[in-house]
Amino acid sequence: MTIPETIRRILVCPRCHGALVDEGDAADVGLACATCAVVYPVRDGIPVLLVDQARPR
Ligand SMILES: [Zn+2]
Repeated sequence: MTIPETIRRILVCPRCHGALVDEGDAADVGLACATCAVVYPVRDGIPVLLVDQARPR
C-alpha cells in the first residue's frame, strides 16, 4: 500500500524533523530517515512515526 503524496509531503522524522523517503516494496513499505539511519514502519497504510518503533536502516 502506498501513501498518498499529499500526506507524504507533511511527514517528517519525529526525531530530527528531517525529510523521510520511501523505502522497501509494496509488501513491506517504510519511511526512512537518512540523518538518523532508521526506517519507520507503515502498518496498514498508516505511518508509525514513533522513535521507539523505528528499526535500524
Ligand atoms: Zn531523523
